[in-house]
Amino acid sequence: MELLVVGSVAFDSVKTPFGEVKEVLGGSATYFSTAASFFTNVSLVAVVGEDFPKEHVDFLKSRNIDTTGLVRSAGKTFRWKGEYTYELNEAHTLDTQLNVFEKFRPSLPQSYKDHKVVFLANIDPDLQRDVLRQINAPKLVACDTMNFWIEGKRESLIKTLKLVDILIINDGEARELSREPNLVKAASKIRELGPKTLIIKQGEYGALLFTNNNVFSAPGYPLESVFDPTGAGDSFAGGFMGYLANSMNLDDDNIRRAVIFGSVMASFNVEDFSLNRLKSLDYQEIENRFRDFRRLTHFDDI
Ligand code: AMP
Repeated sequence: MELLVVGSVAFDSVKTPFGEVKEVLGGSATYFSTAASFFTNVSLVAVVGEDFPKEHVDFLKSRNIDTTGLVRSAGKTFRWKGEYTYELNEAHTLDTQLNVFEKFRPSLPQSYKDHKVVFLANIDPDLQRDVLRQINAPKLVACDTMNFWIEGKRESLIKTLKLVDILIINDGEARELSREPNLVKAASKIRELGPKTLIIKQGEYGALLFTNNNVFSAPGYPLESVFDPTGAGDSFAGGFMGYLANSMNLDDDNIRRAVIFGSVMASFNVEDFSLNRLKSLDYQEIENRFRDFRRLTHFDDI
């Protein structure tokens, strides 16, 4: 099924212990849609400024991503600047410039309005609801957010969460949102806010999936070369939602497989800066790493 995403398309400036890049292609919707495009058709809703080069739009189109909903407005593209220390799990935001996102009120193209699967990537929760309101009968709605919005727009975020089936956030964000340090208790509190399925990402340590009666734990893939964690969360969400939208099977076993596909996409993304690794990736590599994950976690009963 077609998958619709709203989120940021950005210029990122990132410093890690292994190098530094300035004003490269980034943004939650960019990473998400690129990762998801390996599994299903994706329609993008976002805004960029006059400074956004055609070459980046061409790249999205080359991944078969529908960019009818990618608006170009007067002003500058969203910019994010972040830094990672050797503790690669946590991004330290140095600067966020919303720019054209500040006034963006999307009007969805007619062709997007019947989409059934929606991902509200990390962006202003008001904007997330604006988009959701325009979709006729969504069947599956998932969402991401970050500390910037949990701290700055908590009430609005809680309104968004009421409308969401699946929430995908990292451990620090889960603690901050629930105001509860223990992750299992935090999960219960968050699930009471709306999303009955919750994924808590733990960076290089993997991800936890909470559904009605079950918890599933996926490891992080043990990688030798990690260059830049930026976009890992969005690539995870892209692999996860892309696989679910393609299979449209929401039983626990399939959601577990989707978590592994999410982990596979995140593990590739961190191997290089910006979207460079996703640009060179092919589907056979994805399948091979999915099988590696199976071997990695398999053990026999006594
Ligand atoms: P992650 O997958 O969590 O590493 O997300 C990284 C992406 O989030 C970067 O490419 C940024 O451009 C984008 N980003 C950072 N801060 C924000 C924000 N406040 N709103 C929307 N997108 C953001």
